[in-house]
Amino acid sequence: MIESSSFTLFFLFMLALSSIARLWLSFRQVRHISQHRASVPPAFADKITLEDHQKAADYTIAKVRFGRWPLAYEITLLLLWTLGGGLNWLDQQFSALAYGPIVTGILVILSFTVISALLDLPFSIYSTFVIEQRFGFNRTTVKTFILDILKGGALALVLGVPLIYVVLILMEQAGQAWWLYAWLVLTGFSILMMWAYPTWIAPIFNKFEPLEDGATLQRIKQLLERCGFSSNGVFVIDGSKRSSHGNAYFSGFGKNKRIVFFDTLLKMLDDDQLEAVLAHELGHFKKKHIVQSMMISFATTFIGLAVLAWLMKTDWFYHGLGVSTKSTYMALLLFTLVVPVFTFILGPVMSMFSRKNEFEADAFAAEQTDANHLVQALVGLYRENASTLTPDPLYSAFYDSHPPAPVRIAHLNAQPQQQG
Ligand SMILES: [Zn+2]
Repeated sequence: MIESSSFTLFFLFMLALSSIARLWLSFRQVRHISQHRASVPPAFADKITLEDHQKAADYTIAKVRFGRWPLAYEITLLLLWTLGGGLNWLDQQFSALAYGPIVTGILVILSFTVISALLDLPFSIYSTFVIEQRFGFNRTTVKTFILDILKGGALALVLGVPLIYVVLILMEQAGQAWWLYAWLVLTGFSILMMWAYPTWIAPIFNKFEPLEDGATLQRIKQLLERCGFSSNGVFVIDGSKRSSHGNAYFSGFGKNKRIVFFDTLLKMLDDDQLEAVLAHELGHFKKKHIVQSMMISFATTFIGLAVLAWLMKTDWFYHGLGVSTKSTYMALLLFTLVVPVFTFILGPVMSMFSRKNEFEADAFAAEQTDANHLVQALVGLYRENASTLTPDPLYSAFYDSHPPAPVRIAHLNAQPQQQG
């Protein structure tokens, strides 16, 4: 028998632990970058100017320092929603309307989501229009910013509400095994989204155009053929509509796969470098990283739902988090709200897994193209995106999905050179 007051204490302890850790990591990151600001790391001395290196340092420090405000705000809001009685109050308002558990649940979850999104808005405005602007990366107009919010909101409504509806019905009516059915529904939904994303969802936010025929496209086609990879097209999107940061990705599966380059990336890299970047992305596919990540996410959902099924039957889970009346929707909402507090310490494990994959994809790119081209492309990207070359190792272990620049490039330089 667990007392709700013991659970409250455990929650507060984990919250304090993760918050102190996040704050401490942010101080470490700022100190480490400041200490290395005066000179370019030797391995990059002939590739990156001191001016670029210092811009990257200042940009990274500005982002990390600014990030402490949303962190403090997020902790305060979490406490207000839970122990402060915010969710309880919201629940009472909608329960008073007597619509039954499913409609009430949808209303509570929806209004919580809208309020949270509005409360987060000042930070995203500041980050886009002040920080990104100051360092010359912002291309988002106020109109695009507002349209993005409206489109994102409409999409969340159209896709999210039916999904929550189905999950709440299962929680209410499907008996002990509800979470297994819910898992099947969520898994099916995420597969459907991955399939639909490139063709149906991404074009809502960006304009897609086929990469025009020419030397670049020919190089890409040869690479795809060499790697035995079929896609339904190579596209360029107008990433420059929002930011001058460059990127490339690869989305969809089965026959519905698209290779997507940001227009900003095409401006940064030459054909050799572009080919190497694409080979890296193909490496993720060939080494089954995409399938692995899907499996991990399905397994995580499975465990999460099993834990939720157990928690929702207890009293201490609700009472310990400031909610007086037990309900399926409140269990769902509380669970999604507090889970990150307990899983923060797993961050380095996930990052480690992701970096292992990055090394493998780099090795694949070195085999298929030329390691030097990828090194040049990465250096160009670090420079243009003002990514720091000298992150704090511990900060990086927690947050970075990619290995720090010097480590990654050292690995690439150690790759056997391509024959012929
Ligand atoms: Zn990668």
